[in-house]
Amino acid sequence: QSQEFSQAHIDYHGALLTLQEHGTRMVCTGKMHTDRICRFDYLCYCTEAEEFVFFHSNASVMLPNLGPRRFQPALLDLSSVEDHNTQYFNFLELPAAALKFMPKPVFVPDVTLILNRFNPDNLMHIFHDDLLPIYYTMQQYSDLDDEARLIFMEGWSEGAHFDLYRLLSSKQPLLKEQLKTFGKLMCFTKSYVGLSKMTTWYQYGFVQPQGPKANILISGNEIRQFASFLMERLNITQEEGDDYIVVFKRTTNRLILNEAELLLALAQEFQMRTVTVSLEEHSFDSIIQIISGATMLVSMHGAQMITSMFLPRGAAAVELFPYAINPEQYTPYKTLASLPGMDLQYVAWRNTIEENTVTYPDRPWDQGGIVHLEKEEQERILASKEVPRHLCCRNPEWLFRIYQDTTVDIASFLDVLRETLKKPNLKKVKVASTVHPGRVREPKCQTSVQATNEAKLSVSWQIPWNLKYLKVKEVKYEVWIQEQGENTYMPYILPHQNYTFSENIKPFTTYLVWVRCIFNKNLLGPFADVLTCKT
Ligand code: UDP
Repeated sequence: QSQEFSQAHIDYHGALLTLQEHGTRMVCTGKMHTDRICRFDYLCYCTEAEEFVFFHSNASVMLPNLGPRRFQPALLDLSSVEDHNTQYFNFLELPAAALKFMPKPVFVPDVTLILNRFNPDNLMHIFHDDLLPIYYTMQQYSDLDDEARLIFMEGWSEGAHFDLYRLLSSKQPLLKEQLKTFGKLMCFTKSYVGLSKMTTWYQYGFVQPQGPKANILISGNEIRQFASFLMERLNITQEEGDDYIVVFKRTTNRLILNEAELLLALAQEFQMRTVTVSLEEHSFDSIIQIISGATMLVSMHGAQMITSMFLPRGAAAVELFPYAINPEQYTPYKTLASLPGMDLQYVAWRNTIEENTVTYPDRPWDQGGIVHLEKEEQERILASKEVPRHLCCRNPEWLFRIYQDTTVDIASFLDVLRETLKKPNLKKVKVASTVHPGRVREPKCQTSVQATNEAKLSVSWQIPWNLKYLKVKEVKYEVWIQEQGENTYMPYILPHQNYTFSENIKPFTTYLVWVRCIFNKNLLGPFADVLTCKT
């Protein structure tokens, strides 16, 4: 392994001289530790001290140069989870002259991306926190190409799905533990530290109850391109074939107790064959292959539902929730399915029949057991009909309820499917356009006074420049009229390129008028420069 960075293939003397003379150079993006990614030349890592080292010389650069604010609370987040105090990155500083007294550095010639995986034992976390952010961080920096080296500093072992991380570059990713085998002082010739948070859509409830992020910046398009990339790397091609429904089951906990009955009901209702898969019984590749051709995916709430990103457009993701869990409060997969351009249908079903649930009070706390709690608290939990909102990650009532097994009440299950799903031809949805209108051009207003209490305001404009190249089903215009000095405005939706307003228009008054174009009801364009119109 240690010959992986065989120092014979690089100009060792030259590299050492550069490090000694130039020291470390750092230039970062981002204003805050939560949105920062840093690029380094000659960032080093001391494997004994488990610390990154920045070597100062006359030529070293540190931008931003935060002084002690670098520790308030950190230079940056090493994982994609925002401001988590176990995921901070910083470095120690040394003068480059100290190198004389230190172990000989081992130089890493690859361009490296240094980061923390957040929870590499859980498939949802692997995709949402690691794979997507790594993939799009690599897209952001062109030297993070297929030859880039990923370095995982969170300190975990490979985990159950390490093969997925291997797909992101042609080089074997390295774990923190392995760095020791290369030497006492490693110096990364070129490295990026940190991950883009642009692709994440969910916050897990560390400071407020879990839910969709406040400002989601990813659309289904980027998710689907990433999914296609993975499928290509896995040599999965989507075959045309018959329609079928996949039931993704769990085999160790959160079970569906009447699986056979559920499969039969689905097959009869939709006149399709059904397939069951589980992470325990199928390879990940074969699961993706199956899901990528499915018309519907049915699964208990849980990390395995992240595979719904591989469903074809128009398919349905159906998520089942155990007794006393409110689906509205646990929406990572609903949010994913509902991203614009994801083009999935989403249905949640919850068990509302207490007799149909099987609880496990005697299990260890992390599998939802509650016998370690005070008697009174146990009784309160058992009597409760819904888990109240809570923070991550050790709420015993939440764990107790989410690890129940469930007999799915077929009648109520089929009811919600019938209510929500667009049948037939689940898969054959039209892909909606996402092209936004440009500004309307040459906006003008004309005014006239009819009488002492009567006036007219005519507004006209030209179509946005891009409209003449587009086929748009519905083009509308929105006009806002505000009397100068007032802080409210009247909005109007109009079908044509001009309109004369007479209601609520007063003589000898100044109006401010904004106009924008709207495609297909929800694709809003920008407002043109405001018009000032005096009656
Ligand atoms: N898991 C599984 N089968 C099971 C239970 C769990 O494949 O019977 C997987 C699950 O998909 C996830 C990991 O094990 O990737 C951890 O599961 P956990 O219940 O801790 O998390 P959750 O699924 O609730 O996010």
